[in-house]
Amino acid sequence: MSTAPEAVVSFDSVSKVYGTGAGTVCALDEVSVVVPRGGFTAVMGPSGSGKSTFMNIAAGLDDPSSGEVLVAGQAMHLLDDRARTLIRRERVGFVFQSFNLVPTLDVRENVLLPFELAGRRLATEEAERIDHLLDVLGLAERLAHRPAELSGGQQQRVAIARALAPRPAVVLADEPTGNLDTRSSREVLGLLRAAAREYGQTIVMVSHDPVAASYADRVLVLADGRLAGDHEAMSPQQIADLLIGFEEGVA
Ligand code: ADP
Repeated sequence: MSTAPEAVVSFDSVSKVYGTGAGTVCALDEVSVVVPRGGFTAVMGPSGSGKSTFMNIAAGLDDPSSGEVLVAGQAMHLLDDRARTLIRRERVGFVFQSFNLVPTLDVRENVLLPFELAGRRLATEEAERIDHLLDVLGLAERLAHRPAELSGGQQQRVAIARALAPRPAVVLADEPTGNLDTRSSREVLGLLRAAAREYGQTIVMVSHDPVAASYADRVLVLADGRLAGDHEAMSPQQIADLLIGFEEGVA
């Protein structure tokens, strides 16, 4: 047995090339990175640097042109669509900029949707854990509300509860604060950080916002599809300076 920390997401020389001939774009260029269990990792980079491509490949929504991708111990690039769908449903939680809640379901029903889709009944211990999660996320008083009756910050907290409830191997968060005001953004980021620190939840978040990335304990920087930086926690100012360097092409 290896003593290295368990890799929850691992990219080994992953490249993604779009188009052919003169129109070829290398969206990811030989990216190798390991995300171990329990960390909160931010993926930063200027627009067009490959962040969405990175997320789509990690989520098994897109195939790499070359290289190997492991998610929750599974070689995603070798699996068929059905097997990937199962991993996405059972091992990966998603948090999107646009919340993606089901408008006709109330808060509790939205949070329990992953169990519903998997055809799984909740064990008592699980139901108690989810009640606790809803409480910690400040949603206990809102369980019967529909998304339209909630603020943006509350809706994103529901989406976080839904992502965390099945205890996925990894939560992939795509610009989770993109639609939120400053106060709600801080709340949401604090909750993601707490999920990683206190519950050992692995989180990978794409964001172009230095304040958001400063909540992470690791900051990966993409530039022109290459992994151009791999840093421990940094302040918003340090991250902003780093990004300006890449945008100006001097770093
Ligand atoms: P980011 O999320 O950092 O803005 P993307 O991953 O969306 O970056 O894009 C990286 C590069 O790949 C960009 O040059 C983009 O234009 C290109 N790209 C992304 N998706 C496609 C696609 N489906 N077809 C062609 N080019 C694409």
